[in-house]
Amino acid sequence: MALTMAALAAAFQALEQTRRRGEMVAVLGRLLASADMQEIARVVYLCQGRLRPPFEPLEFGLQATLMSRALAEATGCPLEEVQARYQRLGDLGTVAGELLPPVGAGLRVLEVYDRLYAIAALSGSGAQGGKVARLAELLRQLSALEGRYTLRIVQGQLRLGVGDATILDALAASAGDPGLRALLERCYNLGSDLGLAAQLLREQGAEGLRRFSVCPGRPVRPALAQRLTSPEEVLRRIGRCQVEPKYDGFRLQVHRLGDTVRLFSRSLEDVSGQFPEVAQAVPRQLQAREAILEGEAVGYLPETGEFLPFQVTSQRRRKHNIAAMQETIPLRLFVFDLLYADGEAYLECPLSVRREALERCLRATEGETLCLSPALVTADAARFQEFFDEMVAEGLEGVVAKRLDSPYTAGARSYNWIKLKRGYRAELADTVDCVLVGYLLGRGQRARFGIGSLLGAVYNPERDRFETVAKIGSGLSDEGWRRMKEALDAVAVPHRPARVESVLVPDVWCEPRYVVAVQADEITRSPQHTAGRDGSATGYALRFPRVVGWIREDKRPEDATTVGEILDLFRLRRHETTRPEPPLPVE
Ligand code: ATP
Repeated sequence: MALTMAALAAAFQALEQTRRRGEMVAVLGRLLASADMQEIARVVYLCQGRLRPPFEPLEFGLQATLMSRALAEATGCPLEEVQARYQRLGDLGTVAGELLPPVGAGLRVLEVYDRLYAIAALSGSGAQGGKVARLAELLRQLSALEGRYTLRIVQGQLRLGVGDATILDALAASAGDPGLRALLERCYNLGSDLGLAAQLLREQGAEGLRRFSVCPGRPVRPALAQRLTSPEEVLRRIGRCQVEPKYDGFRLQVHRLGDTVRLFSRSLEDVSGQFPEVAQAVPRQLQAREAILEGEAVGYLPETGEFLPFQVTSQRRRKHNIAAMQETIPLRLFVFDLLYADGEAYLECPLSVRREALERCLRATEGETLCLSPALVTADAARFQEFFDEMVAEGLEGVVAKRLDSPYTAGARSYNWIKLKRGYRAELADTVDCVLVGYLLGRGQRARFGIGSLLGAVYNPERDRFETVAKIGSGLSDEGWRRMKEALDAVAVPHRPARVESVLVPDVWCEPRYVVAVQADEITRSPQHTAGRDGSATGYALRFPRVVGWIREDKRPEDATTVGEILDLFRLRRHETTRPEPPLPVE
């Protein structure tokens, strides 16, 4: 029997009312089990609060004022009244819940989905009016509960507290086999599309998931690096390895399908339009007609051979004025991996094989946009250190050492790749990426901005939770604090968000949305924070934390530093301070 919108809304309500992970998985598992072959992918996207996988740029494009108009039209409530309620409640879904009747027309989920899709897809002149009219028409047929969640999806604020990891657990549960979890995750890592993973499972079972492989056009979730602090440690861990410069720009995954080139950011956003010189260079420089490559894009001055600092390079991540920026900040893409070429998936191949294939594929002639990242293969700590020093002298961040026999570990942070950064010995070896979950008003000077410090959390992937690790009160300029308050106020919520675990209660809670890099001196044990508590009363905390840079647009909340990494950093730091100091890199 077809799944009704009422059943979906009831499940969403049950999810909203619990904070217990096991219960969430059970509710979601039952919902997914009740969806049929045609519904399953769409139901998964709706649970994610969207209509398509995140890498497909489909936006509703409706401001709150237009949504209010649609709600007023649908209910007959005067627009001013709708707006006043929205002001008071801060969420149009809740307003719809107050104004719509308890029972709707009994629409099926597929019908609601298709109509929402049609609204999002409307474009061109007069589109806004058409969107409002169609949304009003849809709302007229929905019950209070259905309308509440439908409007939240349109507003991009479903906020059920369900992350991708929970959906993967629920999919395995819905098939009645927890053993499928690993296969589902593999499929998700290779295709970045939970709806597709769900559909494959339903249509073809475990075998379908097993057969799934990468294909150009679908971003692969990036392989990530662990950190260590010296060449000796790296060599002890992975032996003879390939050492590459660590460029400080932004990661790009390049997909070529014949004449079409698509570029994806680290957070899998389609950024094809933003880097025309990269897209144009691909057909010129790449032998393979179909391919997936990975590299780091850096601002580079060809006249002097100088790399531009990250703050400058990052100005290229914009949607307007692209041609002008291309002139002032030319880019080079340093390609470091090949995942697919002309029918052959390379992910499972050892790095040495991928590198050889990459060298065959890429015509990296002098002065071109795509360059092959240099690579030194060595087992010698002195040679390794020398290479590191050369890179730092050229203004780079350090190096990434890669295990020669390792496959490409999509979506995972492993010791197959190890980053070694130039760092100040007084500080932690690396910055920590914190998700902001709230802010405190603060006293004195800062109080006049209405924001004094930020509550930062790290991610616990096993539990799909954000656990707090720092109260961050420095690192931003006055202007920075003002802008931060603005950004956080836009995602403020009245209660602690479902996935956040915190002992501290900030003045304002925020939906976990924004990630910032935080530099700290040390990691200490602390009862004030929940990171890594694992049943005990003491968690881990950052000492003297300060924000570095600005909100990291390339990271989703789940891409923040994990609790496991905090434990690793804690151990690294202890280890480091009990050893004689290694020689400082030449800078
Ligand atoms: P991560 O991407 O690991 O979460 P991050 O974005 O905070 O971390 P770093 O920890 O500084 O960045 O280092 C990893 C990043 O370094 C990669 O994601 C990639 O963008 C970049 N990078 C630069 N050069 C290389 C290289 N040669 N090989 C792999 N990654 C590289």
